[in-house]
Amino acid sequence: MTFLGVLNFRYFLFVWLLAGIFAAQDLCASEVTVKKNQIGDGIYQFTCSSDGYVPNGNSVVIVNDSDVLVFDTFTRPSAARLVLAEIRKLTNKPVRYVVNSHWHPDHWSGNEVYAQAFPDVEIITTEANREHMLNAANAWPPMFKGDLSKQESDFENEVSTGKLSDGTPLTSQRRSEHQARLQQERDFVTEMIAVHRTYPTLTYVDHLTLWHGGREFRFISMTGDATATTVLYLPKEKILMSGDLFAFPEPYYTPPLSQHLASLRRLAQFDVDLIVPGHGPAWRDKEYLNREADLFDSIIQRVHAAERQGLVSVEQVQKAVNVDELLSKFVQNDQELKDFAEYLRLDLLSMVENAYREGRDGEKFPY
Ligand SMILES: [Zn+2]
Repeated sequence: MTFLGVLNFRYFLFVWLLAGIFAAQDLCASEVTVKKNQIGDGIYQFTCSSDGYVPNGNSVVIVNDSDVLVFDTFTRPSAARLVLAEIRKLTNKPVRYVVNSHWHPDHWSGNEVYAQAFPDVEIITTEANREHMLNAANAWPPMFKGDLSKQESDFENEVSTGKLSDGTPLTSQRRSEHQARLQQERDFVTEMIAVHRTYPTLTYVDHLTLWHGGREFRFISMTGDATATTVLYLPKEKILMSGDLFAFPEPYYTPPLSQHLASLRRLAQFDVDLIVPGHGPAWRDKEYLNREADLFDSIIQRVHAAERQGLVSVEQVQKAVNVDELLSKFVQNDQELKDFAEYLRLDLLSMVENAYREGRDGEKFPY
């Protein structure tokens, strides 16, 4: 998913929240909290269920012989500070390495917290990813502000018409709920505008291996929902951190789908006991990973078949692909995915467009 896609998702979700449709997925919790899950000897997965941006982001803390490595640092510095407080309860060793899987803001906006507490910290990422960070960072404050002003005008509209977007009356209870959510959104945007962007200090191109502190860390550059994403593999512990190559419940994507598919197939070859995705729970098997790869595969095959049958426009191809059939195959009986199905359907349509463009070398033919 592109950064713009994430913003659209947040706006889309906000509208749903305002309409009371999706209250269970409250992304705008007033208090940011993180949950700790020990996943190995000295290895902890921290999940931030609701940070005001995207759900269930993961940050992994790995305690070594004499220091600590942190993989990804969340959207909000306040969430990274909570993880740092937990690290201090676990150990008095300093954080020596921070790793940023990719440039989307939910994976590195907390870097400043570690750089302030540990001035000698090295921040590791790929060379291309660091470039993306430098190029993208200035776009965010105005985009977050724009997102907020859309939400403010929707709320003003509700108040002036006395109606929700679906035409139902705005009750006093709904009004105060929406007002509270809007305030949480303002708090989120205020924090994001104040982020001191802190960039990686150590970059690599294809892969990098660090033998350190009794562990072997293999950093591998792969294309996921961002190009040159860092995947971290610990061969002895058989733990893989995938960044957003792999996420739950939403399979994020941006670059050509076939490149992302190739990465998922490659991940499926790793000898692992545990996969920590960019978002969502850690997985002890590869079933969902393979399900996501199979979904991408089916979309690419169906799109190319439709193109070769003579369909020209994206809309024609989207119709021919039969997204609903693929969606039910993907969702299966998983309640969390079922709850998310309406949004996943939009994702699938957008994946079809992605594969359509890739099949025609980036072109979207006018029709
Ligand atoms: Zn993410």
